[in-house]
Amino acid sequence: MSFDTLGLSEKVLQAVAASGYTEPTAIQKGAIPYVIEGRDVLGIAQTGTGKTASFTLPMLTKLEKGRARSRMPRTLILEPTRELAAQVQENFEKYGVNHKLNVALLIGGVSFGDQDKKIDRGADVLIATPGRLLDHVERGKLLLQGVEILVIDEADRMLDMGFIPDIERICKLIPFTRQTLFFSATMPPEIQRLTETFLQNPAKVEVSTRSSTSSTITQYLVATGGEDYEKRQTLRDLLAQAEDLQNAIVFCNRKVDVATLFRSLERHGFNVGALHGDMDQRTRMTMLDNFRKGNLKLLVASDVAARGLDIPDVSHVFNFDVPIHAEDYVHRIGRTGRAGRTGVSYTLVSGDDAKYLAAIEKVISKTIDWLGEPLDFEAAIAERKERRKAARAGGGDKPKRGPLRERTPRVRETTEDAGEAPRRERTRKPRVEAPAEDRATEMRQPREEAQPRQPRPQRDRAPRRDRGQDHDEPVIGLGDHVPAFLLRDPRAKKAS
Ligand code: ADP
Ligand code: MG
Repeated sequence: MSFDTLGLSEKVLQAVAASGYTEPTAIQKGAIPYVIEGRDVLGIAQTGTGKTASFTLPMLTKLEKGRARSRMPRTLILEPTRELAAQVQENFEKYGVNHKLNVALLIGGVSFGDQDKKIDRGADVLIATPGRLLDHVERGKLLLQGVEILVIDEADRMLDMGFIPDIERICKLIPFTRQTLFFSATMPPEIQRLTETFLQNPAKVEVSTRSSTSSTITQYLVATGGEDYEKRQTLRDLLAQAEDLQNAIVFCNRKVDVATLFRSLERHGFNVGALHGDMDQRTRMTMLDNFRKGNLKLLVASDVAARGLDIPDVSHVFNFDVPIHAEDYVHRIGRTGRAGRTGVSYTLVSGDDAKYLAAIEKVISKTIDWLGEPLDFEAAIAERKERRKAARAGGGDKPKRGPLRERTPRVRETTEDAGEAPRRERTRKPRVEAPAEDRATEMRQPREEAQPRQPRPQRDRAPRRDRGQDHDEPVIGLGDHVPAFLLRDPRAKKAS
């Protein structure tokens, strides 16, 4: 089946042909005709199945009629991260080569001035992250009354990042008569509720089962020792052995570890880049671009930084850490095996990971094969205990927190800095120092600097408190979340 039968305009079909797509993906086949018809659409399909073109192509077709008015965009696309927003913009540029459309991008970390100019000129397509969009609305520079099509993309990621209240608010600012297109890889209950409130009689297009991993990905577990230096060795061995390794993403759970692993790999001569939430927008874009072009072969990344990014043709995914949230496993390995290509994933598993691994296998409804000998969890835990005991008995060099960790400042990622924010804090195992030779590199690392915070205009919505942090800064005590009963004066109770 080709693209011709979906109702797309001649101009769009020409651009699609020029881009090299020959066949629409399942979600594109299902969704495009409904979008053209003017129906609300609820599209559910796993990562990497081509959801972007399933709304950009019919939108371009529809935008051929009519003109943009100053400050009143005709269509609005909401994306959870700046990178995703930029990718959608690229999509419009690619398929809109035959159209003369104004596409404006409103993302954090960029000056308001340039964005204002684009809005003033009249945008046919406005692509935005929710926080920055609301900032513009509150400054009175942007009117949403003219929006004919609203797209909420990557809705489950929006939920993860705490954007749902913003989305609800934005939905209420746009006329009821709009067409709403809603895309998500998964359908948790909060998302379900949102669709029931804001979609009108939607055409539901659901492709493949939820939380499944693509059958084109070969997945392996690899047993490793639990100390960081052991894991780095295991990773290097895997990188040396992996067949047909074109390029790969290596995922860590914490952004501090992204930095450490990146420098270690670099020191070992790998062609490697890193992607984490503390990097400024331009550095992240440049990094990603170099990776896309093949100038970088490996990319070490955190979940937050890599979420939803369209990085084509990744041959391998390595999980340096077993993800704590099973859903992240699905998203991570979804970076490979995209659009029908084949991919391989390796997950390093140590004694601490039994519980997380079990959760993952439950979510994907299958057991993952071990490469080589399976890990004997009990033996691994016992051995590690022994080793720590021996180290303590040995006196002076008892395991303690490394100098890097102690000197790393607590860094808050603001929405403006990252255009994204993660779920709440989750901490795990205590870290043990690497042997001296490996530690030397860690000590040479410069500190990670926080981005300067930009002043935000006041607004009448709840502070987005938990959007600010990456997962990896240990919360001291209860962090921001002190239960009310602990704040009460204990003596007051006695007196009553
Ligand atoms: P999703 O949003 O579902 O995660 P994307 O829209 O980012 O997926 O697309 C994933 C990849 O598939 C991109 O590299 C994109 O260029 C490619 N792709 C999309 N549609 C097609 C198609 N019809 N044929 C071939 N490749 C496609
Ligand atoms: Mg997408």
